[in-house]
Amino acid sequence: KDTPHSRRRVLLKLSGEAFGGGKVGVDPDVVKGIAHQIAQAHREGVQVAVVMGGGNFFRGAQLQQRGMERSRADYMGMLGTVMNCLALQDFLEKEGVDTRVQTAITMGQVAEPYIPRKAIRHLEKGRVVIFGAGAGMPYFSTDTVSAQRALEIKCNAVLMSKHGVDGVYTGDPRTDPQAVKLDKLTFSEALTSNLRVVDAAAFSLCMDNELPMLVFGIDGEDSITQAIKGEKIGTLVTA
Ligand code: UDP
Repeated sequence: KDTPHSRRRVLLKLSGEAFGGGKVGVDPDVVKGIAHQIAQAHREGVQVAVVMGGGNFFRGAQLQQRGMERSRADYMGMLGTVMNCLALQDFLEKEGVDTRVQTAITMGQVAEPYIPRKAIRHLEKGRVVIFGAGAGMPYFSTDTVSAQRALEIKCNAVLMSKHGVDGVYTGDPRTDPQAVKLDKLTFSEALTSNLRVVDAAAFSLCMDNELPMLVFGIDGEDSITQAIKGEKIGTLVTA
């Protein structure tokens, strides 16, 4: 059935760092702006699923460096993503968008459990589905989970928003002044050049399954809207 929400389906990865506006916690003004951008693209008929990051609260690897046990620290990281999910859900609903949060660690009072077929139904009904708690497994990242969820719920592309960088560069633009931005590249190029803007595991999942990935900056005025609508922005990585 060709309803307005039956054509393009994308998975949007939102970095937690952006949600904090550079600090620990959630900056409601930032989340409101992001929700507004998602709502605008969603109104034009794109099915949108979101994987929420949590770097504004905790990163397991960083807590490990400070002496915590890695798995426990990773669970803290995953729980942090859920707070971001609830903030995003709130502002999306204020934009008039129906939403569901699904988490990989069950917490019945605040969210549904992750059920892929149900997630697809929500998307078909025009709801935005927000995935929290990563994969529910330590030692994973939300980038990798984004590729996995995109594959499982059959998205046409995975859109990796990044805070502080607007695409894939030949080197690290923060430290290498010669680094230039690329319009496109292949997954194997990204992997062999060891470009760390996105996790190697995410690149390799997408490569093996021929899922296109867009890497773009979250900081622009309407970059999220543009990315969801399939406009030319960021760097396109393909098989
Ligand atoms: N995490 C995890 N398993 C997952 C997803 C996330 O253990 O499947 C933990 C990990 O500690 C990570 C933290 O949650 O550092 C927050 O996620 P991430 O660093 O990917 O968030 P982002 O950088 O995108 O904000």
